Amino acid sequence: MAFNGTVPNALNELYPGLTDFSSLNWFEQQWVAWYVWIGNPIIATGLMSFLMHEIVYFGRSIPWIIIDAIPYFRQWKLQPNKIPTAAEQWACTKQVLFSHFTIELPLIWLFHPTAEKLNMKTYHVPFPDLKTMAPQIFFFFFFEDFFHFVAHQALHTGILYKHIHKIHHKYSAPFGLAAEYAHPAEVFILGAGTILGPLIYCFFTANLHIITVYICIVLRLFQAIDAHSGYDFPWSLHNILPFWSGAEHHDFHHMAFTNNFSTSFRWWDRIFGTDDKYRAYRARVDAAKKAMKNATKEQRVAMEQKLMEEVEAEGVKAEAEAEARGIMGGSKAKVQ
Ligand SMILES: [Zn+2]
Ligand SMILES: [Zn+2]
Repeated sequence: MAFNGTVPNALNELYPGLTDFSSLNWFEQQWVAWYVWIGNPIIATGLMSFLMHEIVYFGRSIPWIIIDAIPYFRQWKLQPNKIPTAAEQWACTKQVLFSHFTIELPLIWLFHPTAEKLNMKTYHVPFPDLKTMAPQIFFFFFFEDFFHFVAHQALHTGILYKHIHKIHHKYSAPFGLAAEYAHPAEVFILGAGTILGPLIYCFFTANLHIITVYICIVLRLFQAIDAHSGYDFPWSLHNILPFWSGAEHHDFHHMAFTNNFSTSFRWWDRIFGTDDKYRAYRARVDAAKKAMKNATKEQRVAMEQKLMEEVEAEGVKAEAEAEARGIMGGSKAKVQ
């Protein structure tokens, strides 16, 4: 599209047939206003993408920071003796911002031209309906989950672990802000899983609106931050959808340095057996809880603590092995 960048013309250039704004819903009207106000679709899409990421990432992390500060919630903390300090949270925030500004910000201006090349709808209105969006979002989640399952295991091998993924494993008890606490190369590699699905889908179908990609990214951010939160509530999603991973699944990955490599769904780890140590651990906790029915609360807490420490000690060994010998971290870890 020829585009001369002046605001009055932006309306005519981008939306030549659009005269009746009342046919658009409130979100679509704001969408049009944004693209017309910025006046350049490349900048409008890039800026919106970056701002959306920052607002959702830190906005979703704030409730977890508050929850960490309130002792009442410790009853649902997966590793209750490991509460992140303010200094840890600040150090984590700085690293996340560094990655966002050094990797994401320079690359984000390519998003709009790439999307246009693949015939993805960007500034266009109206938005697709829910019936169109829902299966696309499921496909993108399915794609990302499998991509991550494979790439994450590769990141657990020698050189890739030592020089890239080790940063993300700094915290054996993660917290919300730590979701993207990672080497910039890891942000790029694993971020590709979120972006590639929509691009491939659009390449083959030419039927995708960027708003669907945004919804998918927002949901994925919620998933990643919640999975790192360190809390498992009775109302957490995996207690309703048993195949959903959630914090209960990923917290083990950080604690034990092995197993549970996927992001959203439990099925690939289950099918490929990369959840064997996790399930053995859960079985041990359940058996110990049953055996200690008449024990005091303190005794039960001490027992759970002991089991966690055993798993973590094995994880430390597995990490050293992965780094030293360049083998798959998970394959050598023993927790029994
Ligand atoms: Zn990992
Ligand atoms: Zn993680």
